[in-house]
Amino acid sequence: MSVSLILAQKGNDVVTVTSQSTLADAVDILAMRKIGAVVVVNKDKTVCGILSERDIVRQIAETGAEALQESVSHCMTSKVVSCDTSETIDGLMEKMTTGRFRHLPVIENGELVGLISIGDVVKRKIEQAERDADEMKRYIAG
Ligand code: AMP
Repeated sequence: MSVSLILAQKGNDVVTVTSQSTLADAVDILAMRKIGAVVVVNKDKTVCGILSERDIVRQIAETGAEALQESVSHCMTSKVVSCDTSETIDGLMEKMTTGRFRHLPVIENGELVGLISIGDVVKRKIEQAERDADEMKRYIAG
């Protein structure tokens, strides 16, 4: 299954913040939207980073609760690994495993068009395994 098919099912909505937002703003958004990461964008909507709950936990562990007043730019990851719509689930799994992260922004012609989380990937893998098992059962039953 390709990224474009996943996006056709889940939509193109991506929750973003700017690098000037505070960590407190980001925490509110993560909690309200029940998500684990936000993509950081410039004014022209190009991607300049990603901030996950892990970055925020690390920052609070280092500097305490005052960290929440710091700007996103201080603790986001700037070197973002992304994917495009033609990539497959197996390719995404490989990127997530190698990079040890759970989120992949989808970028097409320089534009942010979606976000795939590890949950999206696992869901499709389970569905695929169930389809394969059903097919095998039907085959065995003749
Ligand atoms: P996650 O597992 O996605 O919560 O993120 C773990 C760490 O990897 C955090 O420091 C994130 O900022 C970073 N990270 C998450 N997604 C990406 C990505 N697509 N490219 C680069 N770093 C990422």
